[in-house]
Amino acid sequence: MPNHDQVSEAAEKFRLDCQRREKSGELSRSIGDAGEFPLYLEVQTHTACNARCTCCPHPIVFKELPNGFMSDDLWEAIIHEASRLPLKRFMPYLNNEPFLDPKMIERLRQIRKRCPDTLIEVSTNASKLTAEISEVLVNEYLVDDLRLSIFGVDQASYSERMPGLDWMSTLTNVKGLLAKNKNAARPLNITIIGIEDENVSDAQWQISDSQWRQLGSSLRLWGYLDRAGNNQQKNEMIFEGSYTQRGCELNRPFERLCILYNGDVIMCSQDWRREDIQANVRESGLIGAWNSPKFRTLRERIMGRGDEVNLCTKCKMALLDVDGSIVPRGCYK
Ligand code: SF4
Ligand code: SF4
Repeated sequence: MPNHDQVSEAAEKFRLDCQRREKSGELSRSIGDAGEFPLYLEVQTHTACNARCTCCPHPIVFKELPNGFMSDDLWEAIIHEASRLPLKRFMPYLNNEPFLDPKMIERLRQIRKRCPDTLIEVSTNASKLTAEISEVLVNEYLVDDLRLSIFGVDQASYSERMPGLDWMSTLTNVKGLLAKNKNAARPLNITIIGIEDENVSDAQWQISDSQWRQLGSSLRLWGYLDRAGNNQQKNEMIFEGSYTQRGCELNRPFERLCILYNGDVIMCSQDWRREDIQANVRESGLIGAWNSPKFRTLRERIMGRGDEVNLCTKCKMALLDVDGSIVPRGCYK
């Protein structure tokens, strides 16, 4: 169990981090405030992914749960209601590889047209970013924030982390995309996403970052997250002292509506096994789902008013009140 000095230090670090995120717009609402509508939409138009990443529950969960594609009428209902909301971001992906959806380009065009004031974010493993797809993405400026998951710095580390994909094919796709983007009248904002890996040194990541910069992008390195215990390799930080949960470091259930392919709403993207369905947008619409009694009660519980939420007890993003200091569970490693 951490001592008092560790808690104070972690609480101060968290406070400063919140200030920074509020200034940069990363934290859009104050912790615990859900407003009357979501600010972000995450929509899973299908359930597939081809990368088989070792840092992700997808390869296992995909075999355990029902899978499918979103129906056209449900997609239309979502985009119709979304177009009437002051959304900050529309993310047409959720725990999947978006470009395995043959309709993805068309969907991006629809979002752009019908939600013109909303930023579009897409995270992809780049395996399907052919020259043709890249051309359309760049020429039509279909994405404001394009994130490319490349969890390695060379053939060996990439194949280890993303065994479903081929390093050379991915490089070809990404280099082609970045070359087009460099010459575009309005270039896309493209970031390479890496995940910390004990087999890759800081120096290797730095070299990788400078190589990506030469090509017109940059590397953002994220810490390993076991997706609230849903991944086989667990984070080592579980805090077991006396505490009350007081929110979510990322404020996810207070800002984001996460919609699965069948319309079910999960509390956040960490709920890979769909253990806590809050509502269904086919039955309630977006606003109805956001304000469903179950989702409202869940938020109360996340703020410490009621039983702890099972998923949060396994998540390093849970904010804990330890003797009056608010600290993320993941502060303890
Ligand atoms: S991290 Fe992304 S690319 Fe990798 S398996 Fe999971 S969903 Fe697919
Ligand atoms: S599971 Fe984690 S990310 Fe999801 S609401 Fe709980 S603390 Fe936040």
